[in-house]
Amino acid sequence: MDISSSFGDAEVQFVAEGASGYLTIDLGALRRNYETLVAMLRPARCAAVVKADAYGLGATVVSRTLGDAGCRDFFVAQFVEAIRLKDTLPADARLYVLNGLQPGNEERCAADGIIPVLNSLPQLRRWSELARQVGRSLPAVLQVDSGMSRLGLSPEECSILSREMNEHAGLEFQFVMSHLACADEGANLMNGEQLAEFERLSRLFLGIPVCLANSGGIFLGGDFHHTLARPGIALYGGNPTVGAPNPMEPVVRLDVAVVQTRTVPTGTRIGYGGSHIADREMHLATIAAGYADGLPRALSGTGAVYHAGVRLPIVGRVSMDSIIIDVSALPKDTLTLGSLVEVVGEHQTLEAIAEAAGTISYEILTGLGHRYQRLYRQVQLQDV
Ligand SMILES: *Cc1c(COP(=O)(O)O)cnc(C)c1O
Repeated sequence: MDISSSFGDAEVQFVAEGASGYLTIDLGALRRNYETLVAMLRPARCAAVVKADAYGLGATVVSRTLGDAGCRDFFVAQFVEAIRLKDTLPADARLYVLNGLQPGNEERCAADGIIPVLNSLPQLRRWSELARQVGRSLPAVLQVDSGMSRLGLSPEECSILSREMNEHAGLEFQFVMSHLACADEGANLMNGEQLAEFERLSRLFLGIPVCLANSGGIFLGGDFHHTLARPGIALYGGNPTVGAPNPMEPVVRLDVAVVQTRTVPTGTRIGYGGSHIADREMHLATIAAGYADGLPRALSGTGAVYHAGVRLPIVGRVSMDSIIIDVSALPKDTLTLGSLVEVVGEHQTLEAIAEAAGTISYEILTGLGHRYQRLYRQVQLQDV
């Protein structure tokens, strides 16, 4: 089976023949997705959200690729992610921690030049106090809650802060930010409401640039672009616009190996709990990935994989390390030990498998796990 053909060339290096599964990450497509967003946003800047190991794709490789493409603003969720990532970023890049400033991280954060997103007045006052102690100004982002009730200063805290801003002269605010709760739904009225509330709150901090849009927000139009946007899923090829065709290029494909095949007569029980009983003679194959590899148990009896474009339904329950599929639709003996089936690729998008599992592309991507052989298709000259 030739994975490389799906990219239309032979650039994919087979690092480990005989792996149980291959997660192929097309860095050229990643770069083109970034450039698509840059072009949409100009003159606003485009950051990259690389939290959760760049949504499971590898924060180091992803950040290097986007750094080469000109990205200089990187967001992670946790301080520990920032520590791991900071040395791989371009020297003039900015690295922000979305979840805020946890007590105990202040000094390391300042020493390493990591920029905390300050989500409450106490966090802000601690950071400001440290700036006084070290006798130099410290960079910060101010997050305000514009209607999602997750992170950021409440409107009341914003008014208090606006009155005590002169006490925080040691803080160098890079921007005021907020996050949209429904950005992937273009028609949702909450987007306009959050935009209005965000702009009202940011007027309390005149002169500081503003930052609102995630991937979906970029597609809500220029009113949402501001100074800087923070896309994640769109960079990785997920659809940022629910119910509309995906404007992004796929970045990920996943192929999993067959580890056994068999033919069973009518009446045979299949998988844990014997939950599926063959209603005819069936040709089965067992593939080498399961819920421990991020293929949710919710796919049991409903999901499918593909081979040469033919849909092969999952039968019975998804196991930890394996899944049984019905291959009766293929000519006998098409699949043998080591044959690969497509789990994510041209016949099954991230959104399609997510929908079959009752979840979203984000959860599929971030759950993919580390037992697959990762193949990074490098950026080619024609990609740049
Ligand atoms: C995760 C996250 C993003 C990126 O969201 P996408 O929908 O993946 O583009 C942006 N901003 C914040 C605050 C986030 O938590």
